[in-house]
Amino acid sequence: MTAHPHLDWPFFEPHHKALVADLDRWADGRVSAAHGKDVDNLCRGLVRQLGEAGWLKYAIGGTRYGACADIVDTRAICLIRETLARHSGLADFAFAMQGLGSGAITLFGTPQQKAKYLPRVVEGTAIAAFALSEANAGSDVAALQCDARRDGDGYVLNGEKTWISNGGIADFYVVFARTGEAEGSRGITAFIVDSAAPGFAIGERIEVIAPHPLARLTFKNCRVSHAQRLGEAGRGFKVAMATLDLFRTSVAAAALGFARRAMQEALHRATSRKMFGQVLSDFQLTQAKLAGMATDIDAAALLTYRAAWLRDRGQPMTVEAAMAKMTATETAQRVIDAAVQIAGALGVVSEQTVERLYREIRPLRIYEGATEVQQLIVGRGVIKSFQESEPSGA
Ligand SMILES: Cc1cc2nc3c(=O)[nH]c(=O)nc-3n(C[C@H](O)[C@H](O)[C@H](O)COP(=O)(O)OP(=O)(O)OC[C@H]3O[C@@H](n4cnc5c(N)ncnc54)[C@H](O)[C@@H]3O)c2cc1C
Repeated sequence: MTAHPHLDWPFFEPHHKALVADLDRWADGRVSAAHGKDVDNLCRGLVRQLGEAGWLKYAIGGTRYGACADIVDTRAICLIRETLARHSGLADFAFAMQGLGSGAITLFGTPQQKAKYLPRVVEGTAIAAFALSEANAGSDVAALQCDARRDGDGYVLNGEKTWISNGGIADFYVVFARTGEAEGSRGITAFIVDSAAPGFAIGERIEVIAPHPLARLTFKNCRVSHAQRLGEAGRGFKVAMATLDLFRTSVAAAALGFARRAMQEALHRATSRKMFGQVLSDFQLTQAKLAGMATDIDAAALLTYRAAWLRDRGQPMTVEAAMAKMTATETAQRVIDAAVQIAGALGVVSEQTVERLYREIRPLRIYEGATEVQQLIVGRGVIKSFQESEPSGA
């Protein structure tokens, strides 16, 4: 049996298995699970380390810009996130944000935009961020109000973004603003805003339960040139959704990594903790708990890698990505909670592995579309498929 039996599933190719083995070896002892006091510098360092070791080549697409392939390898991104999440939540975060923050450039950038940003993303010398959410536009993204007015040969941005990961340490932000071609989702455009752009500032640092760089951004008469517009005017919603379609599956993979780590911790504890003249794992109640955890993890993994495999085959996978994201994140929360229970009081001691995982998993059920949003995507998807297969409604 291999150390990672799921890598023998038919979703994968031989190079995927090698990738996990290499990354496991690299991460072992090199990336720390602890968040430390200076999370900004820790993240900067992790991005640079990941770049120097070549792992960020998988975060983008386009070999001429330093990627390992012309088309993003979704299964590789998922396996990297799953593996890094097993070792360190922050290392996973650093990798994921380089991908999410530059994903819209990979998918929709001009050759000039790609040449300007992507090689530095791969080297780890430029940190990327994705700025979509606002205080009054989270799940309801189309309600965003940040405004971009055409002015001469460029645009002038005014407004705010919040909950932006890498806010404060990013070198550039992909920002979605209202340009008013139409109401709602059809009047939004994407821009690349450099952190040095006049009128751009960090409004506030936000502290969260699993610390990572997070901030509110402000734009006051922030001028961006026409060359910084990403994709067509009025098509920014499509840019955002296509980027999220790719990375949503990878959130499921990160949740899987957290769950697998919790499972390992639970097995260690259950098989060594003596009580009532036996060890904890001798009790059938514990065996039932471990059985549920293992089965849930495999179910989440099957959904995750099915979605990634479909995307790599060029097939539609919005519904499958939503199934994977909601199942893997909700499952991981339950698995980690069970691992905390098995650890007893030790499970709630600050910075113990399962305590850290308990905090780290929570935001994944909210960001890149909360579980309820994924339920709606799946619900609408199955109704549409049914109606298409039975047009008469019979
Ligand atoms: C740690 C962290 C990092 C983040 N990083 C980024 C980032 O880098 N870039 C970025 O743009 N955003 C980022 N976000 C923001 C994230 O995408 C939003 O928090 C998310 O979209 C939810 O929006 P909201 O917080 O405004 O919650 P709301 O939209 O107010 O939703 C609140 C709750 O309502 C429920 N809900 C939502 N829709 C429905 C519905 N239709 N029916 C029933 N219930 C519903 C859900 O349970 C949801 O959690 C981040 C958030 C967190 C927590």
